[in-house]
Amino acid sequence: MKVVNHATKYERLKHFLNALNEPTYRYKQITEAIFKHRIGAFNKMTTLPKALRESLINEFGPSILTVEPVLETTSQQVTKVLLKVAGNNQVEAVRMHYEAGWESFCISSQCGCGLGCTFCSTGAIGLKQNLSADEITDQLLYFYLKGHSLDSVSFMGMGEALANVRIFDALNVLVDRQLFALSPRRITVSTVGIIPNIQRMTSSFPQMNLTFSLHSPFHDQRSELMPINNKYPLDQVMNVLDQHIHETGRKVYIAYVMLRGVNDSEKHAEALVKRILNNRYPHLYHVNLIRYNPTVGTPENYGQTIEEKLQTFYRVVKSARIPITIRSQFGREIDAACGQLYGQYQAKKR
Ligand code: SF4
Repeated sequence: MKVVNHATKYERLKHFLNALNEPTYRYKQITEAIFKHRIGAFNKMTTLPKALRESLINEFGPSILTVEPVLETTSQQVTKVLLKVAGNNQVEAVRMHYEAGWESFCISSQCGCGLGCTFCSTGAIGLKQNLSADEITDQLLYFYLKGHSLDSVSFMGMGEALANVRIFDALNVLVDRQLFALSPRRITVSTVGIIPNIQRMTSSFPQMNLTFSLHSPFHDQRSELMPINNKYPLDQVMNVLDQHIHETGRKVYIAYVMLRGVNDSEKHAEALVKRILNNRYPHLYHVNLIRYNPTVGTPENYGQTIEEKLQTFYRVVKSARIPITIRSQFGREIDAACGQLYGQYQAKKR
């Protein structure tokens, strides 16, 4: 029996059990096996009758996971895993481990990306496919089944999270109390400014963290760096973010990648300040300055800003009483830092 048209395998599972006339507690037994006892293989779910385990294997395969690890790279604090998804494509997920015991995960929403930001190695390969909701959540399930604790999750891996509407099904799975049961406040969704889906975040997931990749306060330059700015211009995105803050009372994070000689001047810092101060809730914007990570797959030859420029930019924003942090370069040594996912792998494949 093939079951189709369900957004996630958990829905398919429910439907499948229903069709077999299994008692309703079976679904709970399965989700407890996965999420309480960290059992991914159906044949090891010994609370289920053997015949049912066999039916599940026939229908869903031996494991609840739909992604398959291909390569795992580890450095002191970072593990990067390359996972095979449908269509023989591959995506990367990253685990960061902090000394205090905190574990943070960065996952992908698309294989590649079609938005073509000129500084991004993922954008350089174009959009290969949108991941399914299962492929998105399975990046986390992969780590969870290995015993890791999902303390915080960000959609800052491959792809633009809000360009793939399946992310909304994935988010529902992540916060579902019977499944991952993650607090929405521990989830961060990053976007280059897809307005209709920012509005959907505001109404459907008001407690989740939102990061807006701004990268230039000037319309024309931003359009050059990030062509999506032609469709969803910065002015309009800022208005929508302001509305998001108004309705949710939550902070919005502004990501700003510092590109040497491109967007790292004092003039840029002042213009950014002006943009933020023009909003109704300037104190609820938090700027994250990010050191650019050049990789093999990056399309244009951008360089990392010099330290002095970074510090000046920081001071200008800070002195306007806008919260700002300089992000550390976690994971750079294995190309797992921001904007580096996939580029290196593609270069090796050629
Ligand atoms: Fe896509 Fe984000 Fe890269 Fe732009 S920065 S090309 S939106 S993955």
